[in-house]
Amino acid sequence: MVLDRINYLKNEINKHNYNYYVEDNPTISDFEYDKLFAELKELEAQNPLFVTPDSPTQRLGSVSEKFLPYKHKHRLYSLDNTYSYEDLTKWYEKLEKEYGQNLELVCELKIDGLAIALTYENGIFTTGVTRGDGITGEEITQNLKTIRAIPLKLFEDVNVEVRGEIYMPKTSFEKLNEENLQNGKKLFANPRNAAAGSLRQLDSTITAKRDLSMFTYTLIDDNLPKTHYESLMYLKKLGFKVNPNIKLCKNVQEAIDYCKYWENKRFELNYATDGVVIKVNNIAIQEDLGFTARAPKWATAFKFPPEEITTKIKEIELGIGKTGAVTPVAVFDPVQLAGSVVSRASLHNFDEIKRLDVRIGDTVLIKKAAEIIPKVIKVIDTPEHENLPVYIPPTECPVCGGKLGSKDGEVNLYCLNPHCSELMKAKIEFWASKDAMDIDSLGPAVIEQLYDKKFISNPVDLYRLVPQDFLQLDLIQEKSASNLYNAIQESKTRPLKRLITALSIKNVGKETADILANEFGTLENLQNADFESLKNINGIGPIIAEDIYKFFHDEKNVIMLSELKSLGVEPPQAEAPKSDVLKGKTFVLTGTLEHLTRDEASEIIKSHGGKTSSSVSKNTSYVLAGENAGSKLEKAQNLNITILTEDDFLEMIKE
Ligand code: NAD
Repeated sequence: MVLDRINYLKNEINKHNYNYYVEDNPTISDFEYDKLFAELKELEAQNPLFVTPDSPTQRLGSVSEKFLPYKHKHRLYSLDNTYSYEDLTKWYEKLEKEYGQNLELVCELKIDGLAIALTYENGIFTTGVTRGDGITGEEITQNLKTIRAIPLKLFEDVNVEVRGEIYMPKTSFEKLNEENLQNGKKLFANPRNAAAGSLRQLDSTITAKRDLSMFTYTLIDDNLPKTHYESLMYLKKLGFKVNPNIKLCKNVQEAIDYCKYWENKRFELNYATDGVVIKVNNIAIQEDLGFTARAPKWATAFKFPPEEITTKIKEIELGIGKTGAVTPVAVFDPVQLAGSVVSRASLHNFDEIKRLDVRIGDTVLIKKAAEIIPKVIKVIDTPEHENLPVYIPPTECPVCGGKLGSKDGEVNLYCLNPHCSELMKAKIEFWASKDAMDIDSLGPAVIEQLYDKKFISNPVDLYRLVPQDFLQLDLIQEKSASNLYNAIQESKTRPLKRLITALSIKNVGKETADILANEFGTLENLQNADFESLKNINGIGPIIAEDIYKFFHDEKNVIMLSELKSLGVEPPQAEAPKSDVLKGKTFVLTGTLEHLTRDEASEIIKSHGGKTSSSVSKNTSYVLAGENAGSKLEKAQNLNITILTEDDFLEMIKE
């Protein structure tokens, strides 16, 4: 029985290894793969006689036959991994028993990419090889030479081998998939597969067109420094890109704190990381500990809760958004994903359902990023799929029964009934949301009741409510009624950018609203702006300009805006700038500042005549960087943009 299970697990894992390493096309999530792997390891530990040399626990990866095989001079290993802090602590305590208390650790983000080994002779890059099965890899020097983060010549004429991870930035991955979608090509499941697929191209001009980068994390040298941390600093000195978020920890608790911090913060990075690699800092201890058949004993990977998982679709629900667009949502039994329980995932629109060929009953891979609801990435190839009925999009609104249709050649289907109750509720909910008028405690449940009991039928009606109206709602007592009423009154004087956001103008989100508020200063100026002046604003363009122009010239909207004004909804006049010391300067903020929130820092910049932008480019004057700054800091360094600390910034204002 046990042997049957072991053989089954070996076969399954080998099949998934092939899909993942050779085809760059996994069919289960890493979390599920790790579960199979952990079970096999456990069964083999209990039954050592059944461990065979070809077991996946004794080897790693696979080598494809696409490239010339290259035998590594020094073996490349994998890493043992765990999803639990308890296991991590046990691992550390065992080491402490052997090597004494307060053993130093280095924490590094585990970059979810492709491991490679680079050889330098007299400081010149000579050979680059994939990890392969750790003993033999694929020689891909030409392709690696196209990656700018890989120095062709080092700052010192040394003979070294280095290891690192090739990755594709998340934004580039999304762009590549978008292009592939338009050209009818296969989509990559995640940035790792995209990086692997781009790197292992027989034609290096294709690799050159893909945006790949590399973080270096291992140095192999005859004269290694005494600690791993020092070797990372030396790699930097040689000209390699080392991840800026490495941390030297004095004990396991500091390492756990680091893991906890990055568990949520990772979503702000522009590269995928699936965990933290924790390494013993002292190289002599590393050498003493050595390796198992597949992994070093002096390092372990703490893996973050999974971002991806497979699940079976029970139903496809239809939701109506604030623009009237009907969004299909996949519903499934609750699963744990990235630290929370989810039971629904977005399918975006009906074209996406057709493209993925999603059918009710299918097993699908779903993925979650921070604060974004999970989305369906792909359908898993199962024998059942072909027998399930093909999904047919609806023709009528699931809420009001109105006709559904598309607008301006868009892929979305819209409910064409302007009085559709769901559409109006979504608009009111958005009006009250944090990014818009920020009306505290006016959530979906209260809005639903207010709407259904006919107290409101649109956002303007909110300002006609009196405290007694709230008392007619279920579970609302006097105190909450007055709080709700006061919160609505307070929202009347929200800044202009919030009011513009709240209007739900097509293609105008909070960033565009901010640009418009800065440009026009008052709602009247914006209402009176002609198409030309809108089009010429930096960051707007003709399509958005047309949407804005149309919105403010639609008679219904003109009436709505004048009603709002007569009900007292009027943003305060923007304060005159305190100074113009920052005139013409564009700032990008990144990381956590010590004394100011990001909003406060932005306000200060604006009040001194400067501007803020969300992304770093040649036009950025300064990057204001706080603690744990991410990819923006890195990009600023690459573009030689001046980086300011919070103190530098405050000093600048004082001057
Ligand atoms: P791994 O990816 O879990 O960990 C080892 C690798 O981490 C190293 O080889 C290196 O490439 C990388 N790494 C990233 N940052 C690092 C750093 N700072 N320091 C050191 N190493 C760093 O192990 P693996 O052997 O490459 O692959 C096994 C994992 O791959 C599995 O745990 C699973 O998550 C995934 N996998 C998934 C499937 C699937 O079908 N979904 C199949 C095979 C493997």
